[in-house]
Amino acid sequence: MKWDEFSGWGRRIADWAQDYHLTVGDRPVRANTEPGDVLDSLPLFPPEGGEDMEAIFADFEEIVMPGITHWQHPRFFAYFTSNAAAPSVLAEFLTAAIAPQCMLWQTSPAATELETRMMDWLRQSLDLPGEFQGVIQDSASSATLAAVLTMREKALNWQGNQQGLFAQKPLRIYCSSEVHTSVDRAIWVAGIGQQNLVRVPIKGTWRGMDPAALRQAIEADIAAGMQPAGLILCVGGTGTGATDPVDDCLKIAEEYGLYSHIDAAWAGSAMICPEYRHYWPGVERADSIVFNPHKWLGVQFDCSAHFLKNPDDLVQTLAISPEYLKTHGKDGIINYSEWSVPLGRRFRALKIWFLIRSYGLEGLRDRLRNHINWSTKLHDTLALEPDFEIITPPMWSLWTFRYAPQGTEDLDALNLALVNAINDDGRIYLTQTRVDGDLVIRFQAGQFETTEADVMMAHTVICEIAAQL
Ligand SMILES: *Cc1c(COP(=O)(O)O)cnc(C)c1O
Repeated sequence: MKWDEFSGWGRRIADWAQDYHLTVGDRPVRANTEPGDVLDSLPLFPPEGGEDMEAIFADFEEIVMPGITHWQHPRFFAYFTSNAAAPSVLAEFLTAAIAPQCMLWQTSPAATELETRMMDWLRQSLDLPGEFQGVIQDSASSATLAAVLTMREKALNWQGNQQGLFAQKPLRIYCSSEVHTSVDRAIWVAGIGQQNLVRVPIKGTWRGMDPAALRQAIEADIAAGMQPAGLILCVGGTGTGATDPVDDCLKIAEEYGLYSHIDAAWAGSAMICPEYRHYWPGVERADSIVFNPHKWLGVQFDCSAHFLKNPDDLVQTLAISPEYLKTHGKDGIINYSEWSVPLGRRFRALKIWFLIRSYGLEGLRDRLRNHINWSTKLHDTLALEPDFEIITPPMWSLWTFRYAPQGTEDLDALNLALVNAINDDGRIYLTQTRVDGDLVIRFQAGQFETTEADVMMAHTVICEIAAQL
């Protein structure tokens, strides 16, 4: 293909994309393919000669699309959403066309400076103090890894990268049982070891860390000759929206000199609305905070916003500067690759800029508030159904329930059967989690174009399919 054929195809794909988004609600949400179906449709060998774009596009529709689960479907209520609002998709198209690699300031000054400004727009939107500076990471997992590496280096007086961990006291990092698995992975990758990730017990309806138990755990570790290094809190955990008492826990972290990181990957987006900020009082005490604008806010995947109170700690942990990466003669520039594990960086700030300008913060807040209100309304109606139990109450737009008709022996099996039957039906998409060992069904609303009718349809579908089991 030559570039002078590009615009014809670009228009055709733009038409296809618009039509896809306008009609995706007519498709089953979850792909109904069997393992191997797509693989078996793909040629075993790459072609030696070039093929026509017409044939390639036809195969895309025929082979790929049936195997896609529709994350942009208005009745996607599984996991968390991964939104792609129209203006952010346009920005991503432009980014794909210019394809800059934004590792250093000089490898695209506009990308770096737009990133600085966008991260400050997001900081203001969340009402974080001006001392926080931000960087866009590829994922919350990467931000959490960067934070854990910083915990390690700070605790080891910046010697870990040089000396490794062999001769060191065990470093201890504290979190609740409700944190995302990306925390475990960060601990593994940082060489700290799973056994040094201390799970502090939780309590209360928010399923948050018990501060008294945190203090006890730190004291016990110090007494045992180990070295407390960091605290990881969750605000809006993945299973049930678990939220730690941020202020109380961060005060303890300050007292013991622990570096602190808050994982608000999903719920952080809701903090653009002042009325949800009571979920993280004292957030300004944190050293590091991550949230994913690509989840709920509407920015096309991927885009993870990482705020740091003192970026120098992170830069001292990760910066490496061989001659070929140096920029001489420019003062005050930022090379964001020194703030992240990967060197190469996509131009992600453009899609934040397009999104926020297109809807305005108020337009984005309206959507989030609607999702939370509609989800709560669905919760209220399902709570009235005699055969259903609410297991965890709405945290933002996430809550969990269980189908528990009288006399059922194996509720886990029944609920697994229910969630599978619902997803085979295709009108809505839900996933399960475990709460205190029991298998329960999660509901969350957050798709950018979902409506109240879409959310309320879940009531009909859940009750209808449960009755058929
Ligand atoms: C989704 C999620 C993550 C992982 O996010 P990635 O960007 O996919 O790495 C981490 N923590 C929480 C609470 C999440 O909801």
